[in-house]
Amino acid sequence: MSDCGTCGPAGAGPFSEGKDLVEFVYCAHGGAIAVAPLPGGGIETKCQGCGEKFVMKTFVSKCPKCGGVHAVSPPRSQDPNGIQFAGVGYTLPDN
Ligand SMILES: [Zn+2]
Repeated sequence: MSDCGTCGPAGAGPFSEGKDLVEFVYCAHGGAIAVAPLPGGGIETKCQGCGEKFVMKTFVSKCPKCGGVHAVSPPRSQDPNGIQFAGVGYTLPDN
């Protein structure tokens, strides 16, 4: 993984946590990963901000209720425990 050295926090990678991971995935491959559909149709999860249940369909997804930004990295795309939450009030750089 050497394709994300130009954006996001230094040293962030697919196994970072929280906002670092969200920004890493958001920037990976020029943003192509963030909007790519998750294999298997998505991961059912619970918003780590407000507790709303929703299905993450892309590697970076927002809670439909509070807009909380969640992301999962490709190596962990089948792992609900791999989902990271950027934090309450966080918004994506280009949104
Ligand atoms: Zn929420």
